[in-house]
Amino acid sequence: MARVTSTPDQPSSAAAAPSRVVIVGGGPGGYEAALVAAQLGADVTVIDRDGLGGSAVLTDCVPSKSLIATAEAVATVRHADEFGVDVDPAAVVVALRHINARIKRLARAQSSDIARQLHTAGVRVLPGTGRLAGPQQVVATGVGGDETVLDADVVLIATGAHPRVLPDAVPDGERILTWTQLYELPDLPERLVVVGSGVTGAEFAGAYQALGSQVVLVSSRDRVLPGEDPDAAEVIERAFTRIGMQVMSRSRAAAVRRTPDGVQVELTDGRTVAGSHCLLAVGSIPNSQAIGLTEAGVDCDEQGFVQVDRVSRTSARGVYAAGDCTGVNMLASVAAMQGRIAMWHALGDAVAPLSQVGVSANVFTQPEIATVGWQCRDIETRNIAAATVMLPLARNPRAKMLDIHEGFVKLFARRGSGNVIGGVVVAPRAGELIHAVSLAVSQRMTVDQFQAAFTIYPSLSGTTAEAARKLHLDVQS
Ligand SMILES: Cc1cc2nc3c(=O)[nH]c(=O)nc-3n(C[C@H](O)[C@H](O)[C@H](O)COP(=O)(O)OP(=O)(O)OC[C@H]3O[C@@H](n4cnc5c(N)ncnc54)[C@H](O)[C@@H]3O)c2cc1C
Repeated sequence: MARVTSTPDQPSSAAAAPSRVVIVGGGPGGYEAALVAAQLGADVTVIDRDGLGGSAVLTDCVPSKSLIATAEAVATVRHADEFGVDVDPAAVVVALRHINARIKRLARAQSSDIARQLHTAGVRVLPGTGRLAGPQQVVATGVGGDETVLDADVVLIATGAHPRVLPDAVPDGERILTWTQLYELPDLPERLVVVGSGVTGAEFAGAYQALGSQVVLVSSRDRVLPGEDPDAAEVIERAFTRIGMQVMSRSRAAAVRRTPDGVQVELTDGRTVAGSHCLLAVGSIPNSQAIGLTEAGVDCDEQGFVQVDRVSRTSARGVYAAGDCTGVNMLASVAAMQGRIAMWHALGDAVAPLSQVGVSANVFTQPEIATVGWQCRDIETRNIAAATVMLPLARNPRAKMLDIHEGFVKLFARRGSGNVIGGVVVAPRAGELIHAVSLAVSQRMTVDQFQAAFTIYPSLSGTTAEAARKLHLDVQS
């Protein structure tokens, strides 16, 4: 068993011995924290089990968004006739093995970039599994079973989460799949049953339908994307139906079984849905088991999520946590911010607690749904005095040129002050358009200030400025 107390080649900006920071998990929560800690002169070790970048890079965000990029390209080619270009749809060949090979290549390249970044910053990376041996000690078990004991002044738990499965729907990697297993498929599923209509289920359902699978989306709720703005979710459900997807609402899956040539999904009301493949997208479970958290005094909730405050502190002194293992707004961007905040706090730098209101989020369907700030449900439940405007994109000149017929911009502003407090954009590349609204929310801009900035003519962003202009008088009443 090796014992490590410091890194000899680690430069220190302070005269005193550098703080020893040990990070368990090399996803965005872990590696972004490592970069900040190294910048602040700490002696940093990251222990990672499955590859730097974590699920975000290797199995979740990067692969899914790369798949979606391909699906968009296919849709554009198939609908070229809308732009006056003749393309024989039968000539479009979707070879999933090539698409998947590209996706895995991109993910590996991104992981290598992160490894290089950490190396350059002087961060030590130990491949293996980490567990706490008390609040100030971490044991790393390497692939060959060798153990390294690391003493730490600060520990960050950033172990992420893994896909939840149903007891009677055991993934086999061939026909019954979690989202991490999709990239091993050699051919496009003929009939893909997607169980779960949250963000993950909706994104994959849209992508595979666009690539050419017949998708059946099994949703236990009244409509798809139950957590999103209701008007936005309605646009997506209509878009799904228009491209030929079968959306089954109020249908809860109880079990998924293999049949000789595919799968059968059994619903709780006794109905069954046949498919060639089934994708389970029913949420995530935190990776917080058997890593010594309870013994070290780190509290978790009943679902296993590590409890943290807004500067990422857990209940154990010196132990912080970031990312999906905390269950706080499970996004890569939030994981990264929680990790950075933990290090700024632990190492005595200036720090502002995490503000979830400022988080912008995007659903990568076609069109996308991007949101930031307070939303309809917040305004209702918190009784916020807000004025709202919703402008369709269809009459925007740029939208006409781009053959965009659906989608909208919605803005919320506080009555009295006129401050922009939130917004929703439903459009292709809405994830890019929301940034202006995000700036307005974070900088507490008024609708008048927001609309005063020039937009390009013609541009989709013109509609966001127009929405702010529409609110000019409404916020005064
Ligand atoms: C399909 C899908 C698509 C998504 N797309 C987006 C998106 O587009 N944008 C976005 O912002 N978010 C997206 N997310 C969410 C995003 O992936 C997560 O929020 C993000 O991965 C969380 O980062 P993390 O660092 O907490 O965990 P992870 O990225 O899961 O990294 C955790 C790391 O810790 C390692 N680990 C676990 N236990 C141990 C241990 N005991 N010892 C050592 N190492 C360990 C794991 O192997 C992993 O490498 C998506 C999620 C899914 C499921």
